[in-house]
Order: sequence, then structure tokens, then C-alpha cells
Amino acid sequence: MTVDEITHPDDRVDSAATLASLQAGQISRCSERRRYLRKDGAVLNVQVASTVTCDLNGKPEFLISEIEDLTLRLHAEAEARDNRERLAHVERLSTLGEMASGIAHEINQPLTAISLFAQAGKRLFDMGEQERAREMFDKLSTHAQRAGAVIERVQSMARRRDSATEAVDCNRLIEDVVKLAEAEARIYDISIRIDAAPELPVVKVDAVQIQQVILNLLRNAMQSMRSVQCRYGNSIVLETSRRDDHVIRVAVVDTGTGVSEDFAETLFIPFKTSKESGMGMGLSISQSIVAAHDGELGFFSNDSHGATFYFTLPIHDEEESRG
Ligand code: ADP
Repeated sequence: MTVDEITHPDDRVDSAATLASLQAGQISRCSERRRYLRKDGAVLNVQVASTVTCDLNGKPEFLISEIEDLTLRLHAEAEARDNRERLAHVERLSTLGEMASGIAHEINQPLTAISLFAQAGKRLFDMGEQERAREMFDKLSTHAQRAGAVIERVQSMARRRDSATEAVDCNRLIEDVVKLAEAEARIYDISIRIDAAPELPVVKVDAVQIQQVILNLLRNAMQSMRSVQCRYGNSIVLETSRRDDHVIRVAVVDTGTGVSEDFAETLFIPFKTSKESGMGMGLSISQSIVAAHDGELGFFSNDSHGATFYFTLPIHDEEESRG
């Protein structure tokens, strides 16, 4: 059989083009992912590395190809991805559990307002003040939407679903996370300020997972500030910035304990925690989520107090993905 015959029909054009470039001497070697077909028609994923050897006159004479069967590697990668997603989901549920009282409080507020506005509306209606009673309906609707939005945010965090990437504006993701974390921050009298870079380029990410990372960093920052009774300040700054043509950065700047040199070494090791009720999984899961997005998670000590934890994400090139 010819190489063309064992190549998946969708890969044949590319495969022929590479072969033509090799034969014409335009390139002397290449390594590409291909799909081949087994005798029974099943697809076999392979990596093909090819080199041309030339005769004494420099004319391409032989093509040497080394073909690696990728089945096991792809299987292991899929399994690792699946495990990471499962673990991330468990961690999200545990975080939501810890945040439950703040979330309940956040829902209770609009519910209380709804109850009060409903009573006021009824009274106004009985008094024949139809116009003012109508205003009460608008207020009811606003507060019902507010409660609904809180529940929606919790639901989206709690759902177990397959990883799905989409092109998103990181500033929007951050606003959503801050809304989720605000209730807890208010309880501890901590304010969260967003310092967003304008017109931030879009990134292609699993939105829920990246929100999970931001939420983790925010909650760590809050806990670190609480453990020093916010004596160095009570505001956290969430910054977004564009680092260069390819990368954006999200940073959480706190005024907490900071990270001692000894502890810095163990920070990302699972189950390492300085908290009594901590699991020590947050940073290691966050790091693996960011790494799966081809980004980096790190931290540095601030000049005055506290630490800055940040992560980077590659900018999604729409031109390239269209091409
Ligand atoms: P957990 O929050 O359950 O302890 P993490 O993996 O999120 O797990 O964090 C591990 C440890 O890293 C924390 O226990 C804390 O000691 C340290 N840490 C994380 N974020 C900060 C921060 N912003 N400032 C100081 N220490 C931090």
C-alpha cells in the first residue's frame, strides 16, 4: 500500500504537500501529527518524523520516516485531563461549601427586600395608589433578578461538566468572581478593588476553571489578611494587564502575612497548608489548571506588606484561529 492509502482522507492533502516540499528539497526534515487508517478502518494517531537523504549531487534520494504510535500517550493525556477536571470539581464544591454562609446571606438580602416591597405594594394598592404600587413591582423584579444572579453564579461553579474552552474577556470573568467573593469579603470587612487594563485582548479558556483559580487566589489573599487582623490594610487589588503581544496577566495583590522563604518552597505541594481547616490543594490545583492553559502561576513578595499571586494566559489570536 502507498502512504497515501493508509493516511486518513482528511490528512491526505497536508501529507502530500509535506512530501512534495521534501522531494523538492524545500525542507530537509519535518515532524507532524497524522492520522493513519488500520486495516479495519479504525484511526491510528501517529507522529511522523521524516528526513531526506540526498545523493552526491545534493538531489533528494531517500526519505526516512520514523513513526511513533501515539495511542498510549493520548490515552494517558486524556486520563490525566479527566482526573484534573474531577479534582478541580471536587475542590470547587468544597470552596462553595466554605462560602455557603456568605452566599446564603447574599441571597437572603434580596429575599428580605422582596418580602418588604411586596407588603408595601399591597398597602399602596389598597390605598388606591396604583402608580406607586407599580413602582414596587419594578423593585420586586430587580431584587428577584439579583437573587437569581447569585444562584446562577453558584450553579455554574458547582456544575460538573466536560472542559469547554471559549474566547472570553478576562475582565468580565473577574467581575463575576468578585461578585461571588464579595459577600465573604464584606463579612471580614475587606474590600476588593478591580484595576482592569482597558481593552484587554481575549483569551481562550475554560471560563469556570479560570474563575476557580481567581477565586482561590482571592480567598487565600483574604485569609492571609485576616490572619494579621488586616493590620496592614484591608483592600485587595485584582489587576489585569497585558504583558506583551502574547500574554496577559491577572494578579491578586494583598496586604497579608506575605510568604516566608522557607514556606515558599512548599507552597504548591498538595496538602501543604498553614491553615487549621485548609486542605492545601488550592494552589496545586490552580497551578495545574493554569499550566493546562499554557500559562504560569507564581507569586512574589510585595515591597511593603503581603504578597502578589499572579497567573498568565496566552492571548487568543483570532486571526490565526480563523486561518
Ligand atoms: P489552603 O488554602 O487550603 O491552605 P492552598 O494550596 O490554596 O491551600 O494554599 C497553601 C498555603 O499557601 C496556604 O495555607 C498559605 O499558607 C499559603 N498562601 C497561599 N496564598 C497566600 C497569600 N496570598 N499570602 C500568604 N500565604 C499564602
